[in-house]
Amino acid sequence: MNADQLRKTLEALRERMTESQRSIRDGAISDAGLRDLGKAPINFAEQASDEQELDLMAERLTTSSETLADIDDAIERIDAGHFNECEECGKEIGERRLSIRPWARLCVSCQRKLEKEEGL
Ligand SMILES: [Zn+2]
Repeated sequence: MNADQLRKTLEALRERMTESQRSIRDGAISDAGLRDLGKAPINFAEQASDEQELDLMAERLTTSSETLADIDDAIERIDAGHFNECEECGKEIGERRLSIRPWARLCVSCQRKLEKEEGL
């Protein structure tokens, strides 16, 4: 995944997150919304798997502690040219990790270390 692809993914994610946060805030997940969700599987099959992955990511993010700010930061890092550099050790963040968490700012080993320190 190169910087351009990553940026596009992050921007799409940001858009979706903003939208789902707005829906949750406005209580827009109404009866009509649920009916639309019921129709989703039909559309799903026609859509590219990328779309599905973005939805999943947005959903995961919206319900996790990670925020839009993390995505904004990640976009800033791309613009600054060091999106795949670990903030802790300066090593490259693996491509696989970035494809799962495009907003990651630490490499896997630093992330694990941090989680251990925080007692997670
Ligand atoms: Zn690291």
